[in-house]
Amino acid sequence: MEVLNLIQGKLSAAKGGEWLDLTDPSKGKVYGRLPRSGSDDVNHAVESADKAYRDWSTTPVGERAACLNRLADLIAKNGTLLSLAESTDNGKPVSLASAVDIPRAESNLRFYASAIQHFASESHSMEGVAINYTLRKPLGVVACISPWNLPLYLFTWKVAPALAAGNCVVAKPSEITPATAYLLSTWVKEAGFPDGVFNIIHGLGAEVGDALIRHPKIAAVSFTGGTSTGAHIASVTAPRFKKLSLELGGKNAAIIFEDCDFDDALATTLRSSFANQGQICLCGSRILVEKSLYPKFRDMLVEKTKKMKVGDPQNPLTKMGAVVSKEHRDKILSYIELAQAEGGKILCGGSTTTPENEPHLSEGYYIQPTIIEGLNYDCRVNQEEIFGPVVTIQPFDSDEEAVHFANGTEFGLAATVWTQDLKRAHNVAAALDTGIVWVNCWLLRDLRTPFGGVKNSGVGREGGFEALQFFTEPQNVCIKL
Ligand code: NDP
Repeated sequence: MEVLNLIQGKLSAAKGGEWLDLTDPSKGKVYGRLPRSGSDDVNHAVESADKAYRDWSTTPVGERAACLNRLADLIAKNGTLLSLAESTDNGKPVSLASAVDIPRAESNLRFYASAIQHFASESHSMEGVAINYTLRKPLGVVACISPWNLPLYLFTWKVAPALAAGNCVVAKPSEITPATAYLLSTWVKEAGFPDGVFNIIHGLGAEVGDALIRHPKIAAVSFTGGTSTGAHIASVTAPRFKKLSLELGGKNAAIIFEDCDFDDALATTLRSSFANQGQICLCGSRILVEKSLYPKFRDMLVEKTKKMKVGDPQNPLTKMGAVVSKEHRDKILSYIELAQAEGGKILCGGSTTTPENEPHLSEGYYIQPTIIEGLNYDCRVNQEEIFGPVVTIQPFDSDEEAVHFANGTEFGLAATVWTQDLKRAHNVAAALDTGIVWVNCWLLRDLRTPFGGVKNSGVGREGGFEALQFFTEPQNVCIKL
């Protein structure tokens, strides 16, 4: 695969002629290359977007929505190709890519194609004196920067509201997983977007990403990724007065009470621990179980986890694939070592592995699903984001203690609560310092709801009209009667 930039409607290599390797993590082998773009490419993309802005921002909403819907049609038509590409690039099972990532990318575009047509602004009457109305104007040229864990899913989640609202976009997917954004870029013209409206540039975050967020013509940055990168982006953009949306890391708790629906809680916790090899910002990496249920829940979770085997991500039956890169695998392993140094006991997993009878995958980056017990809620392993198939499990005595443990990190993205007691569910949900709480479910998403975290998990919300508000600026017009 040769990935190219999309600038001014044309696919091109980086101006400097440099390339980066594209690696298939399931095999640990290079399978293609992508442009190592630099500030020249950023300037070209931003200038193209700036030139296209006047026409796009005044294009009727229905026409902008039609472009998004046509791009969604092309995603649907090429679903198999995209699912295989996502799996090769990321190491995720193709079954997950085809059931979750790619359908959701299509839904993101369709959702914002519709939402923009229902997006209204306010009017305030000063009886007999004046009338105010508020315009919601697009911002201009905006940067959308997305991570590697749900590549096309999170990429489209940003670009769809930005484009729908009338902005021109320069988007940068993760350098580690650029393949599906590249495939999308080959259909942008066919979908009807005028040249320059939607640009995609590839390369290293510290190079092309940094040049993008510093560019004076970038009015806003919508970023999803790690907390330290988010802090860096905030430090660069705040003094330049750019609008900023940050969706950052998580260290989510799954709180399981004795009165839960046991089978549902067990099956869903298995999924919320290890889906996408634990590389979803919403995964529940700290499992807290009421003491009376703890031995039974722990033992059955361990038993089920031991049955999970890594496999060839391209095999439709595989449920557990490779982690995204060698560096990431090594980071995850270092946390397993740290857990032992901190006094943790490995109940299952704990090391690298390879799929059985698949010699061609022997160099891939696989980690056994791992459960650790015996750690305090405030140790490093329970405080820092691991972002892999590694969870800790810990008992708690009371509702208050569960909430204390759950809230006892610098993160505040999501939590799950398992109980059949309605009053307890309401009370515990309200006491949690997170942007999202799931009660008796996990990752059940309604795209109209506000999505995002508090504390070190981010600033601002995506989803529904929240994203359209972010990508527009209110202007109040006051007319004296
Ligand atoms: P990173 O922060 O490393 O990277 C995210 C994106 O930012 C990538 O495109 C990266 O490019 C780019 N980037 C890196 N440095 C800069 C810079 N200086 N200026 C501009 N852009 C830059 O995150 P990961 O890709 O490792 O993703 C994993 C993280 O994302 C986890 O912490 C996870 O929790 C979080 N996440 C949060 C979600 C949420 O909704 N809250 C959802 C999904 C993930 P490159 O890859 O080329 O370096």
